[in-house]
Amino acid sequence: MSGSGLPDDLGAALHAFATLPRIVVASDFDGCLAPIVSHPADARADPRALAALVELTAAPDTTTAVVSGRARTDLAGLVALSEVAGVDDLTLIGSHGTEFDDDFSSGITDEEKELLARLQAQLDAIAARFPGAMVETKPASTVLHVRNVATATDAEEALELARGGPAALPGVHATEGKAVLELAVIETGKGHALDVLRAQTNADGVCYLGDDVTDEHAFTHLQDGNDVSIKVGDGDTVARYRITGPELVGEVLRVLAAARTGS
Ligand SMILES: [Mg+2]
Repeated sequence: MSGSGLPDDLGAALHAFATLPRIVVASDFDGCLAPIVSHPADARADPRALAALVELTAAPDTTTAVVSGRARTDLAGLVALSEVAGVDDLTLIGSHGTEFDDDFSSGITDEEKELLARLQAQLDAIAARFPGAMVETKPASTVLHVRNVATATDAEEALELARGGPAALPGVHATEGKAVLELAVIETGKGHALDVLRAQTNADGVCYLGDDVTDEHAFTHLQDGNDVSIKVGDGDTVARYRITGPELVGEVLRVLAAARTGS
Protein backbone atom coordinates (compact mmCIF):
# COMPACT_ATOMS: atom_id res chain seq x y z
CA MET A 1 0.00 0.00 0.00
CA SER A 2 1.19 3.48 -0.78
CA GLY A 3 0.27 6.57 1.24
CA SER A 4 -2.72 7.07 -1.06
CA GLY A 5 -4.32 3.83 0.10
CA LEU A 6 -3.95 2.31 -3.37
CA PRO A 7 -1.95 -0.88 -3.92
CA ASP A 8 1.61 0.03 -5.02
CA ASP A 9 1.38 -1.88 -8.30
CA LEU A 10 -1.85 -0.03 -9.19
CA GLY A 11 -0.26 3.34 -8.37
CA ALA A 12 2.63 2.55 -10.73
CA ALA A 13 0.23 1.35 -13.45
CA LEU A 14 -1.83 4.56 -13.20
CA HIS A 15 1.26 6.76 -13.53
CA ALA A 16 2.42 4.81 -16.60
CA PHE A 17 -1.11 4.94 -18.07
CA ALA A 18 -1.28 8.73 -17.61
CA THR A 19 1.77 9.20 -19.85
CA LEU A 20 0.10 7.57 -22.90
CA PRO A 21 -0.71 9.97 -25.77
CA ARG A 22 -4.48 9.35 -25.89
CA ILE A 23 -6.49 7.74 -23.10
CA VAL A 24 -10.04 6.77 -22.15
CA VAL A 25 -10.97 6.75 -18.44
CA ALA A 26 -14.35 5.20 -17.68
CA SER A 27 -16.17 4.07 -14.58
CA ASP A 28 -19.35 2.33 -13.57
CA PHE A 29 -21.69 4.47 -11.42
CA ASP A 30 -23.35 2.39 -8.68
CA GLY A 31 -20.83 0.81 -6.33
CA CYS A 32 -17.99 2.83 -7.87
CA LEU A 33 -18.60 6.57 -8.30
CA ALA A 34 -21.55 6.26 -5.90
CA PRO A 35 -21.67 3.97 -2.85
CA ILE A 36 -24.38 1.27 -2.98
CA VAL A 37 -27.58 2.27 -1.16
CA SER A 38 -30.76 0.30 -0.39
CA HIS A 39 -32.93 2.34 -2.75
CA PRO A 40 -31.39 2.99 -6.19
CA ALA A 41 -33.02 6.45 -6.39
CA ASP A 42 -31.05 7.52 -3.30
CA ALA A 43 -27.64 6.87 -4.90
CA ARG A 44 -25.36 9.91 -4.89
CA ALA A 45 -21.97 10.24 -6.51
CA ASP A 46 -18.93 11.01 -4.35
CA PRO A 47 -18.33 14.70 -5.23
CA ARG A 48 -14.53 14.32 -5.04
CA ALA A 49 -14.56 11.37 -7.44
CA LEU A 50 -16.82 13.25 -9.85
CA ALA A 51 -14.67 16.38 -9.61
CA ALA A 52 -11.56 14.34 -10.51
CA LEU A 53 -13.40 12.85 -13.49
CA VAL A 54 -14.40 16.35 -14.63
CA GLU A 55 -10.76 17.47 -14.28
CA LEU A 56 -9.70 14.52 -16.47
CA THR A 57 -12.35 15.44 -19.03
CA ALA A 58 -10.67 18.83 -19.45
CA ALA A 59 -7.16 17.33 -19.86
CA PRO A 60 -5.73 17.08 -23.39
CA ASP A 61 -6.37 13.87 -25.39
CA THR A 62 -8.33 12.44 -22.50
CA THR A 63 -11.84 11.02 -22.91
CA THR A 64 -13.94 10.12 -19.89
CA ALA A 65 -17.23 8.29 -19.52
CA VAL A 66 -19.63 7.01 -16.91
CA VAL A 67 -20.94 3.61 -18.03
CA SER A 68 -24.00 2.33 -16.17
CA GLY A 69 -26.73 -0.27 -16.34
CA ARG A 70 -29.24 2.48 -15.55
CA ALA A 71 -31.24 4.15 -18.28
CA ARG A 72 -29.26 7.17 -19.45
CA THR A 73 -31.84 9.77 -18.36
CA ASP A 74 -31.89 8.24 -14.87
CA LEU A 75 -28.07 8.35 -14.75
CA ALA A 76 -28.00 11.97 -15.98
CA GLY A 77 -30.47 13.02 -13.26
CA LEU A 78 -28.37 11.45 -10.51
CA VAL A 79 -25.10 12.91 -11.81
CA ALA A 80 -26.68 16.38 -12.06
CA LEU A 81 -27.72 16.19 -8.39
CA SER A 82 -24.06 16.22 -7.38
CA GLU A 83 -23.77 19.96 -8.09
CA VAL A 84 -20.10 19.46 -9.05
CA ALA A 85 -19.10 22.12 -11.59
CA GLY A 86 -18.65 20.74 -15.10
CA VAL A 87 -20.57 17.47 -14.70
CA ASP A 88 -22.68 18.45 -17.71
CA ASP A 89 -19.61 17.79 -19.87
CA LEU A 90 -19.30 14.15 -18.81
CA THR A 91 -20.12 11.48 -21.36
CA LEU A 92 -22.83 9.24 -19.93
CA ILE A 93 -23.50 5.80 -21.37
CA GLY A 94 -26.62 4.05 -20.09
CA SER A 95 -28.33 0.67 -20.31
CA HIS A 96 -25.08 -1.35 -20.16
CA GLY A 97 -23.55 0.40 -23.13
CA THR A 98 -26.57 0.66 -25.44
CA GLU A 99 -27.50 4.34 -24.86
CA PHE A 100 -24.80 6.75 -25.97
CA ASP A 101 -26.82 9.95 -26.06
CA ASP A 102 -30.23 11.48 -25.41
CA ASP A 103 -31.77 10.75 -28.78
CA PHE A 104 -30.38 7.29 -28.97
CA SER A 105 -33.83 5.77 -29.51
CA SER A 106 -34.00 7.46 -32.92
CA GLY A 107 -30.81 5.58 -33.80
CA ILE A 108 -32.45 2.17 -33.82
CA THR A 109 -34.03 0.93 -37.02
CA ASP A 110 -37.76 0.43 -37.60
CA GLU A 111 -37.16 -3.30 -37.63
CA GLU A 112 -35.46 -3.08 -34.22
CA LYS A 113 -38.32 -0.94 -32.90
CA GLU A 114 -40.81 -3.60 -34.03
CA LEU A 115 -38.78 -6.31 -32.36
CA LEU A 116 -38.61 -4.24 -29.16
CA ALA A 117 -42.41 -3.83 -29.14
CA ARG A 118 -42.81 -7.57 -29.65
CA LEU A 119 -40.42 -8.36 -26.79
CA GLN A 120 -42.23 -5.94 -24.54
CA ALA A 121 -45.62 -7.51 -25.30
CA GLN A 122 -44.26 -11.00 -24.59
CA LEU A 123 -42.66 -9.91 -21.30
CA ASP A 124 -45.88 -8.09 -20.32
CA ALA A 125 -47.80 -11.34 -20.92
CA ILE A 126 -45.35 -13.27 -18.72
CA ALA A 127 -45.39 -10.59 -15.99
CA ALA A 128 -49.21 -10.63 -15.95
CA ARG A 129 -49.10 -14.26 -14.79
CA PHE A 130 -46.82 -13.58 -11.81
CA PRO A 131 -48.02 -10.91 -9.34
CA GLY A 132 -45.13 -8.61 -8.37
CA ALA A 133 -43.31 -9.07 -11.70
CA MET A 134 -42.63 -5.82 -13.54
CA VAL A 135 -41.54 -4.85 -17.05
CA GLU A 136 -39.30 -1.81 -17.57
CA THR A 137 -38.74 -0.37 -21.02
CA LYS A 138 -35.61 1.49 -22.10
CA PRO A 139 -34.84 2.96 -25.54
CA ALA A 140 -33.25 -0.20 -26.94
CA SER A 141 -34.19 -2.85 -24.43
CA THR A 142 -36.91 -4.19 -22.19
CA VAL A 143 -36.39 -5.68 -18.76
CA LEU A 144 -38.28 -8.29 -16.71
CA HIS A 145 -37.93 -7.68 -12.94
CA VAL A 146 -38.97 -10.55 -10.65
CA ARG A 147 -37.56 -9.35 -7.31
CA ASN A 148 -41.04 -8.74 -5.89
CA VAL A 149 -42.61 -11.99 -7.07
CA ALA A 150 -43.97 -13.88 -4.02
CA THR A 151 -41.85 -17.04 -4.15
CA ALA A 152 -38.40 -17.82 -5.52
CA THR A 153 -39.91 -20.72 -7.50
CA ASP A 154 -42.39 -18.42 -9.24
CA ALA A 155 -39.69 -15.84 -9.90
CA GLU A 156 -37.48 -18.48 -11.52
CA GLU A 157 -40.40 -19.81 -13.56
CA ALA A 158 -41.09 -16.32 -14.93
CA LEU A 159 -37.43 -15.90 -15.90
CA GLU A 160 -37.39 -19.36 -17.46
CA LEU A 161 -40.42 -18.51 -19.64
CA ALA A 162 -38.67 -15.34 -20.79
CA ARG A 163 -35.43 -17.20 -21.51
CA GLY A 164 -37.19 -19.85 -23.57
CA GLY A 165 -39.50 -17.35 -25.33
CA PRO A 166 -38.60 -13.75 -26.24
CA ALA A 167 -34.92 -14.08 -25.20
CA ALA A 168 -34.45 -16.83 -27.76
CA LEU A 169 -35.72 -14.77 -30.73
CA PRO A 170 -33.17 -13.88 -33.42
CA GLY A 171 -31.59 -10.45 -32.97
CA VAL A 172 -32.16 -10.40 -29.21
CA HIS A 173 -29.22 -9.82 -26.86
CA ALA A 174 -30.09 -11.11 -23.39
CA THR A 175 -28.32 -10.04 -20.21
CA GLU A 176 -28.92 -11.90 -16.95
CA GLY A 177 -28.89 -10.01 -13.67
CA LYS A 178 -30.00 -10.61 -10.10
CA ALA A 179 -33.77 -11.29 -10.37
CA VAL A 180 -33.65 -9.49 -13.72
CA LEU A 181 -33.51 -10.41 -17.39
CA GLU A 182 -32.78 -7.64 -19.91
CA LEU A 183 -33.50 -8.12 -23.61
CA ALA A 184 -31.83 -5.66 -25.98
CA VAL A 185 -32.40 -5.30 -29.73
CA ILE A 186 -28.87 -4.08 -30.46
CA GLU A 187 -25.47 -5.36 -29.43
CA THR A 188 -25.04 -4.56 -25.80
CA GLY A 189 -22.55 -4.84 -23.01
CA LYS A 190 -20.20 -2.45 -21.27
CA GLY A 191 -17.26 -3.99 -23.14
CA HIS A 192 -18.90 -3.02 -26.41
CA ALA A 193 -19.23 0.56 -25.12
CA LEU A 194 -15.52 0.65 -24.28
CA ASP A 195 -14.68 -0.72 -27.75
CA VAL A 196 -16.68 2.13 -29.32
CA LEU A 197 -14.97 4.77 -27.16
CA ARG A 198 -11.54 3.31 -27.92
CA ALA A 199 -12.20 3.28 -31.67
CA GLN A 200 -13.80 6.75 -31.77
CA THR A 201 -10.91 8.38 -29.92
CA ASN A 202 -8.11 6.22 -31.34
CA ALA A 203 -7.00 5.72 -27.73
CA ASP A 204 -3.68 4.14 -26.76
CA GLY A 205 -5.14 2.82 -23.53
CA VAL A 206 -8.40 2.40 -21.62
CA CYS A 207 -8.81 2.43 -17.83
CA TYR A 208 -12.08 1.05 -16.44
CA LEU A 209 -13.44 0.73 -12.89
CA GLY A 210 -16.35 -1.59 -12.10
CA ASP A 211 -17.83 -3.53 -9.18
CA ASP A 212 -20.51 -5.82 -10.62
CA VAL A 213 -20.95 -8.92 -12.73
CA THR A 214 -21.83 -6.84 -15.81
CA ASP A 215 -18.50 -5.03 -15.45
CA GLU A 216 -16.69 -8.31 -16.08
CA HIS A 217 -17.87 -7.99 -19.69
CA ALA A 218 -16.02 -4.66 -19.82
CA PHE A 219 -12.89 -6.12 -18.23
CA THR A 220 -12.73 -8.89 -20.81
CA HIS A 221 -12.55 -6.23 -23.54
CA LEU A 222 -9.46 -4.64 -21.99
CA GLN A 223 -6.07 -5.87 -23.08
CA ASP A 224 -2.72 -6.64 -21.51
CA GLY A 225 -0.23 -3.87 -22.06
CA ASN A 226 -1.57 -0.33 -21.81
CA ASP A 227 -5.07 -0.97 -20.45
CA VAL A 228 -5.83 -0.79 -16.71
CA SER A 229 -8.77 -2.84 -15.36
CA ILE A 230 -9.79 -2.20 -11.74
CA LYS A 231 -12.28 -4.29 -9.77
CA VAL A 232 -13.95 -2.30 -7.00
CA GLY A 233 -14.65 -4.44 -3.91
CA ASP A 234 -14.95 -8.20 -3.36
CA GLY A 235 -15.86 -10.98 -5.76
CA ASP A 236 -14.29 -12.97 -8.56
CA THR A 237 -12.88 -10.91 -11.36
CA VAL A 238 -10.76 -10.99 -14.49
CA ALA A 239 -9.59 -7.43 -13.74
CA ARG A 240 -5.86 -7.02 -13.22
CA TYR A 241 -6.12 -4.71 -10.19
CA ARG A 242 -8.45 -4.44 -7.22
CA ILE A 243 -9.33 -1.72 -4.73
CA THR A 244 -11.27 -2.38 -1.52
CA GLY A 245 -14.34 -0.31 -2.32
CA PRO A 246 -15.91 2.85 -3.75
CA GLU A 247 -14.13 5.00 -1.15
CA LEU A 248 -10.93 4.57 -3.21
CA VAL A 249 -12.42 5.30 -6.65
CA GLY A 250 -11.93 9.04 -6.09
CA GLU A 251 -8.29 8.36 -5.20
CA VAL A 252 -7.71 6.44 -8.45
CA LEU A 253 -9.26 9.29 -10.46
CA ARG A 254 -7.32 11.96 -8.52
CA VAL A 255 -4.00 10.15 -9.12
CA LEU A 256 -4.81 9.99 -12.83
CA ALA A 257 -5.96 13.63 -12.98
CA ALA A 258 -2.86 14.87 -11.15
CA ALA A 259 -0.53 12.83 -13.36
CA ARG A 260 -2.35 13.85 -16.53
CA THR A 261 -2.59 17.57 -15.82
CA GLY A 262 0.57 18.03 -13.72
CA SER A 263 -1.58 19.55 -10.98
MG1 LIG B 1 -22.01 -1.08 -10.26
